[in-house]
Amino acid sequence: KKRAEEMDPALAVTRPPIVTIMGHVDHGKTTLLDKIRQEYGIKSDVVSTEAGGITQVIRAWQVEKDGNHVTFLDTPGHEAFTKMRARGAKVTDIVVIVVAATDGVMPQTEEAISHAKAADVDIIVAINKIDMPNANVDKTRRQLYQLELLPDNMGGDVPFVETSATTGQGISELLEQVLLVAELADPPLKADPQHPGSGTCLEAYQDSDEGVKATLIVQQGTLHKGDILLCGSTFGRVRAMYNDMGVQIDEAGPSTPVKVTGLDEVPDADDPFYVVEDLSTAREIAEVRKSSRQRSALSSFTP
Ligand code: GDP
Repeated sequence: KKRAEEMDPALAVTRPPIVTIMGHVDHGKTTLLDKIRQEYGIKSDVVSTEAGGITQVIRAWQVEKDGNHVTFLDTPGHEAFTKMRARGAKVTDIVVIVVAATDGVMPQTEEAISHAKAADVDIIVAINKIDMPNANVDKTRRQLYQLELLPDNMGGDVPFVETSATTGQGISELLEQVLLVAELADPPLKADPQHPGSGTCLEAYQDSDEGVKATLIVQQGTLHKGDILLCGSTFGRVRAMYNDMGVQIDEAGPSTPVKVTGLDEVPDADDPFYVVEDLSTAREIAEVRKSSRQRSALSSFTP
């Protein structure tokens, strides 16, 4: 059976970029994400079939611009990003650093930049709040240049986009830059949809009606309803699968975020998942992992 590393280059197709937005608190991450989703979010005629529906917001979703898809991870804040990276999960392809032109570079801006650099992901700068009378775009740019974020006319490769998350100005250009950076990504953003699905768990919880619900991002291959999953130290058969609009789907290809039910326990956010051949193998590996976790938890109690 093929493994993720053994992807057949001939069968690989371009996958949508996965984007995270980071920046200082109040610089507009949430507003920007909301605006992007409002204007470019993929709409569906199908009424949401997930119990609880659209109110149970999935923390990852896709937008479409000129026929191209982009996946956004709706996890503003660095914690999730840092934690994932610490565990070796590379989920994000592109980080958009949001800086409010009213404040300029702030401590968490610098922190976000250093995380993105350490993770070796492509960076795009969004200079936000340009609609505000006290916005100082030039000063903000200079501060960013000093942190070695340089646009191509200065010998760098970091696109700068001026945005207003409230008026929507610059959002279309931001998405164009995301698609351009994705197109030039090295290594190329490719995946083989014929491959069994694998990826990372983004969040999970116990639902009182439907049992464990886990948001997964498929990074390689295709995940199907009915597949047997091993996710960290949990396992199970995918009973139902929902897309980012809460609509039931039967399969999900590379870079697609989905919510699944059917795991036996709540996995950790950032646990990797794999599709495996049979339930007994999945159970065996999950049990071994569970008991080794328990052992290490116990040993940490030793005085
Ligand atoms: P976050 O903490 O980075 O997620 O920031 P928010 O998205 O919560 O934004 C903080 C505040 O700034 C909110 O009151 C937003 O309405 C406002 N805001 C965000 N972006 C803009 C913008 O481009 N222009 C203006 N005028 N206000 C903005």
